[in-house]
Amino acid sequence: MLAIHGGDPYKTTPFGSGKRFGGKELAYLEEALAQNTLFYSSGRFVKRFAEAFAGLYGMPYCVAMSSGTAAVHTALGVLDVGPGDEVIVPPVTDMGSIIGILYQNAVPVFADIDPHTYNITPEAIERAITPRTKVILLTHLAGNPCDMDPIMALARQHGIYVVEDCAQSYMTYYKGRLVGTIGDIGCFSTNDFKHISTGDGGMCIMRDQALYEAAVLFTDKGYNRFATNTLQMRTVDRLCMNYRMAELQGAVGLAQLEKLPWICEQRGRLGEALTERITGIDGLSPHRVEAGNRSSFWFYLLRIDANAFPGGNARFGEALKAEGIPVEIGYIGRCIYTYALFHNGAMQAHFPYAEDAFPYRDGLCPTAEQVLAECIKVPINEYYTQQDIEDIAGAIHKISEARGSL
Ligand SMILES: *Cc1c(COP(=O)(O)O)cnc(C)c1O
Repeated sequence: MLAIHGGDPYKTTPFGSGKRFGGKELAYLEEALAQNTLFYSSGRFVKRFAEAFAGLYGMPYCVAMSSGTAAVHTALGVLDVGPGDEVIVPPVTDMGSIIGILYQNAVPVFADIDPHTYNITPEAIERAITPRTKVILLTHLAGNPCDMDPIMALARQHGIYVVEDCAQSYMTYYKGRLVGTIGDIGCFSTNDFKHISTGDGGMCIMRDQALYEAAVLFTDKGYNRFATNTLQMRTVDRLCMNYRMAELQGAVGLAQLEKLPWICEQRGRLGEALTERITGIDGLSPHRVEAGNRSSFWFYLLRIDANAFPGGNARFGEALKAEGIPVEIGYIGRCIYTYALFHNGAMQAHFPYAEDAFPYRDGLCPTAEQVLAECIKVPINEYYTQQDIEDIAGAIHKISEARGSL
């Protein structure tokens, strides 16, 4: 009997868990404090963290900063995104992808996603391109890569930059290449919910030296610390932010990086195992990773067709929770373009878009809306065991077989 009807829960053992921070973090923190400075430019740890991250990604440059939101804003800032420029972006992402666009007085143009990978599609991007498009800002959602080859081809054809928001996608491979290294700038977050944590933090990686130097300045009030005298240092020529990372975060980040490949490897393996066990269930769509790609499963999003399961994702999710599987019903609730900030008058007066030209309303991205209405978010953790995955899959099968009684 299903647990929601009083049967025994399917999951009887606790999920695997573990400590994220340990002796290495503590040792580096002590070393950082012993420097007698916590300022990135005087100390060693933010530099070492950025160098190690660049090395892991095989990139010449990395700038560490205060958040993933800061990383996206910095990327757009150094690419000279300005008033009236359009930035194509998916509607299923974090506000951190959108804030930088608005602070540059640019216009977010939302393009729809794929119903199975949940990533922005090349077709939707192509339809959204106009002569004002300056950047395609991709989110590789939940560890899963966007379809980069056709997107890069579109960008080249139209002379548009590509910024990759990889906040949810560490060590994610698109056809053998790490995402974050394919577009012009890759952006990451080390907030406490990501694959690795520095409490808060972010990084930009890039190949272009001029973009790198501009990003260092953008995150440090425009002060040019490459300069050799104070006057030169304080010749500020662009409006910048203070998005600096402090040495304590750099120290923790450096220690966290050593675990990152293992974390992503585990999550990738566990997510793939779940897909293997729940493929072929009528009315249930697994989280698709296209052939040749590797997801590092920040989470696992499946979809429940309400025509096949009475009560849809809400009822299915409740049933899963009752079986002892800690899922969330839905993901971000609603598409970002329905957020109230786009509909208040002050916003419209300050930002260069007209409601008519950019109707931020329900119906704008139908697939994204359908995905959000049908999805269940299953957490994946690097400490989960194969048994945990078997139990998640087993509970899903149990509910599917008893769907008539939901
Ligand atoms: C977490 C996240 C961000 C923002 O990161 P913060 O460090 O919280 O500012 C941006 N984009 C995406 C896709 C995210 O998941």
